[in-house]
Amino acid sequence: MSNIIHLLPDHIANQIAAGEVIQRPASAVKELLENAVDAGATKVKLLVNDAGKALIQVIDNGKGMSAEDATMAFERHATSKISHIDDLFKIKTMGFRGEALASIAAVAQVELKTKRAEDELGILVEVEHSKIIKQEPCVAPEGTSISMKNLFFNVPARRNFLKSNAAEMRHIMDEFIRVAMAYPEIFFSLNSNGQEVYHLEAGNHKQRIVQILGNSYNAKLVNVLEETDYMNISGFIGKPETARKTRGDQYFFVNNRFIKSAYLNHAVNAAFEGMIAKDSFPSYVLYIDLDPTQIDINVHPTKQEIKFEDEKIIYAFVQAAVKHALAQFSIAPSLDFSLNADIQGLDAVSKPFTRNDQEAAVSSSLYKTFSQKHQAHFIEPSQKSELKSWKDFFKPSEQTDSTGTIGGYSSEPVLEEAYTGGKLLNIPTIQHYLQLQLTYIIATTQTGFLLVHQQLAHERVLYEQYSQAVHSKQAPTQKSLFPIPLDLAASDSVLLQELLPDLQLIGYQIEKDEQHQFVIQGTPADIVVGNEKHAIEMLIEQFKHFNSDINFSKKEKLVRCMAKQQSIKTGVTLDQKEMSGLVNALFECNTPNITPTGKPTYIEYKGNYLEQLFER
Ligand code: ADP
Ligand code: MG
Repeated sequence: MSNIIHLLPDHIANQIAAGEVIQRPASAVKELLENAVDAGATKVKLLVNDAGKALIQVIDNGKGMSAEDATMAFERHATSKISHIDDLFKIKTMGFRGEALASIAAVAQVELKTKRAEDELGILVEVEHSKIIKQEPCVAPEGTSISMKNLFFNVPARRNFLKSNAAEMRHIMDEFIRVAMAYPEIFFSLNSNGQEVYHLEAGNHKQRIVQILGNSYNAKLVNVLEETDYMNISGFIGKPETARKTRGDQYFFVNNRFIKSAYLNHAVNAAFEGMIAKDSFPSYVLYIDLDPTQIDINVHPTKQEIKFEDEKIIYAFVQAAVKHALAQFSIAPSLDFSLNADIQGLDAVSKPFTRNDQEAAVSSSLYKTFSQKHQAHFIEPSQKSELKSWKDFFKPSEQTDSTGTIGGYSSEPVLEEAYTGGKLLNIPTIQHYLQLQLTYIIATTQTGFLLVHQQLAHERVLYEQYSQAVHSKQAPTQKSLFPIPLDLAASDSVLLQELLPDLQLIGYQIEKDEQHQFVIQGTPADIVVGNEKHAIEMLIEQFKHFNSDINFSKKEKLVRCMAKQQSIKTGVTLDQKEMSGLVNALFECNTPNITPTGKPTYIEYKGNYLEQLFER
C-alpha cells in the first residue's frame, strides 16, 4: 500500500496561514496601520477602494526600511520587533509575530515603496503569490507606502465570502477608529473611493475622542484617572445621558491595544448601575496601562483578546475608577469607590513590580502558552460561577454590535439598502412625473411608485457631482459676462482665499482684485445667473456654521455646503424635463437613497403595500 501523507505545497500552506491573520479587508487595514505606528510615523494615511476589496493602501512617514529589509519583510516570521523569548514580556510594539506582511503577500498583489532618512534612494518591491516579482531602486519620500490590490484574488472561495461593501467598510472604519483612538498624537486620515471620510489632526486623547465620536460629546465626557504602582487607568466615560440603546461607543485599550473584554465591560456597567436604564449601554473610552509582563497578548492576532495575569484585580480597578470618576463629578451622589480591602492587600497591588516578579512570570503558566501558537485563552474552571452573570449580560448586545453608528456615519442597514435600491428599482424610461406640493416628485416604477423629495434628491446629486470635481476632474465653468466684485469682511476673505483652489475645481473662477477683494469671473455651470454673489456669501456663511458630528476635511465640508446650498429648494415648480432629469441623475448616484447627512431622498411604495392598505 502506498503512503498517503504528503507535505502541502508552500503556496497552499501560506494561504492557509494567511487565513488566520487576514480574514477580511479590515484585518489587513489593522495590520498595516499598526506597522505604520510601530515605524514611529507621525502621519498615517489610509486609502481604500471598494471597501478594501480592490485596494488598501497605507502611507506613513515612519522610519522606512532598508532595501534588504524591504524584501525580508515578506518572509513568514520576519520581524524586527523581537529577537529573544524574553522580549515577549516587554512588548511595546503592536506587531511582533512577523506574520502580517507574509500573509498579505499570499493573498493580494502587494506593492511596497519605502525609504529611510539615511538613504538616497528608496526601494520598490512588488509581490504576488508570495513571490517577489519586482525589486528596484526608486525615488520615494521618507517612510513607507504599502498597497495591496485585489485581496483574495487567488482564493476565490474567500473572496466570495466577503460581505457587501457597506459591511466591509464598517469593519474597516472600526479598525481605523481603534488605532486612531489609541494614538491621538498621530495624524490619521481615511479616504474611501476618493472621498475623505476622516481627517484627524494630531491632538490629545480628548480631542481625538471628540473628533471621532462627534462634537456633541465634548461637554459630556467625564475624566477617569487612577494611577497606582500596579496599573494606570485613564480616559473618559460618557455622562449617563450618553448611554445608548445599542452598544456603540465602548472602547478599552490595554497598553494602547484595543481589546474586547466582556469581563471588563461588565465592570464598567456595574459602576454605572442605577444611573442608566437597565437595557442601555454606557459610553466609554478607557486606556489601561500596566506592566507588559502582567498580560498575555499572544492570543489569536485578530481576536483582540488578551489575558490578564490577575483578572479580578483589573476588574475591581476598572469598576472603582469609573465609580470614582462619576462621584467626583457629582454625577453619582456618593458611592463607595474604594478598592475592596482584600484586593488592596494583595501584593500585586501594594508592592511595586520587581525583577523577581518578572522571573516568576517567566515560569508561570502564561509562559507556556507562548509556545502554543494562536492559543485562545480559557477562563479557569474555578472562575466559572462568576462568569455566568456577565455572560448573560453580554449576550443580547452582541447582535447589535455591528449595526451601531459612530459619529453620524449612516448605519449599515441604510447603506445596504442603498446598493440594492438603485439597481432593482427599474424605473421605466418614458413616464409622466407628477409634482406634489411643490416638494415631491412621484415617479412610477414597475411594481409601485417612488416619492422623491426634490430638494434632498438634488442635494445627493450635487454632492456626488462636486465630490467628483474636487477629487478628480475639473467641473465646467460658465464665464460671467461681467466680472462681479466681491467685498468681504476680513475673516471671510481669509476663508475664501483658503477655499479658492477647491472652489475652482467645482467650477468657480474667482480672482484677487486690486480694487475689490475678489472678483467672480465664472461660476459652476448650474448656478443661476444673477445669483453669483449671493451664492458665494451664503456659502461662506454656511461653511462657518457647518455643524457635524464628524470632523470633515475642508474639501468635504465645502462640497457638503455647496450641495446643500445649490440644491433646488422646495416650493420651486419643476417641469417634466427637470423632474425626469433629477430622478435619472439621482439613480445614477452611487448612494441614491440618502443625502450626505443620511436623510432619505425618496421613499418607495411597493404595489403589494398599496394593496394591503386597501385590504385586498
Ligand atoms: P511584525 O509587525 O509582527 O514585525 P509584519 O509582517 O507586520 O510583522 O512586518 C514585518 C517587518 O517589516 C516589521 O517587523 C518591520 O520591521 C517591517 N515593516 C513593516 N511595515 C513597516 C512600515 N510601515 N515601516 C517600517 N517598517 C515596516
Ligand atoms: Mg505588523
